[in-house]
Amino acid sequence: MSSAAAVQRVPDDHLSAPSEGCTICGSEAPRRPVLLLQRSPDVALLACGECRALSASRLPDAAFLKQLYAPSEYASDLLSARAAVRSAARHIVRHAPVPRTPGPLRVLDYGGGDGTLSRAYRDALLADGFDRAIELTVVDHFVDERADREIRFLDVTEFAGLDERFDVVLASAVLEHLVDLAWTSRKLLSLCSPGASFYARTPFEAPLAALVPGYRLRWPRHLHDLGPDFWSGFLQTMGFEGRLLRSAPSVVESDFATRPLRTAIARLMKAPASVEAALLPDRVGGEGRLLWRWVGGWEVVLQVDGPRP
Ligand SMILES: [Zn+2]
Repeated sequence: MSSAAAVQRVPDDHLSAPSEGCTICGSEAPRRPVLLLQRSPDVALLACGECRALSASRLPDAAFLKQLYAPSEYASDLLSARAAVRSAARHIVRHAPVPRTPGPLRVLDYGGGDGTLSRAYRDALLADGFDRAIELTVVDHFVDERADREIRFLDVTEFAGLDERFDVVLASAVLEHLVDLAWTSRKLLSLCSPGASFYARTPFEAPLAALVPGYRLRWPRHLHDLGPDFWSGFLQTMGFEGRLLRSAPSVVESDFATRPLRTAIARLMKAPASVEAALLPDRVGGEGRLLWRWVGGWEVVLQVDGPRP
């Protein structure tokens, strides 16, 4: 776990001006306050009626985020156990179809850290009988070039200039950290080859936080809380065409060996929603509201066809 867990409050001079309008879809309609993330200065989680995202009313500035994510302060607390990573990778292979394009399969893992998930994903594909070459590209901060020679690592500063096409794009537990979520999402979608699979996993904790006294959202690490309502309109919000292939409670990120209690609770809380999503796909894929919302995390697989003309 991280040593930076004590950082919970962002001082006023490191916060953006309060914004009524939505920082994701640009809607200027006032957003509805859902939860308070911190006091003095107050920052609330606001719900956008247009794109259905929940986002912080004020966002930390670059200087604050740089300190928050400095390698000495920050160690990713997600998918850190090896068994959980392997299981998550198998899960993605099972649910995200691999497009049948000629040549090597090109995989982009945004926020992929040292390439742990990418490598596990490649191994899971090979174990599943996949017989084409697989090229892995990982984008993240503080890239360590020595981490793995079979993976191409790019620093986020190189990401804006990236102009290639990928068959599979992974954005697992990363979008919630981004001040520029909309820009990054559009960029990731624009890098998809026609028919590519886009996998994303985000926290969907606001319903749990409203229910459980003392439940803490991971502000200021997490700036957004994104559930099925947001994801069902995501492609349209971003101006892309494609299809929602899967929208379901996310794979449990811890494992029984290292965190038995947390894992058991997470699986119990997700189970009713998984059943509901399987039995009533229209409810999560369309306008309907999911009945069981206390799941903590959500995931989607999208087939991306290209920008809307
Ligand atoms: Zn919005």
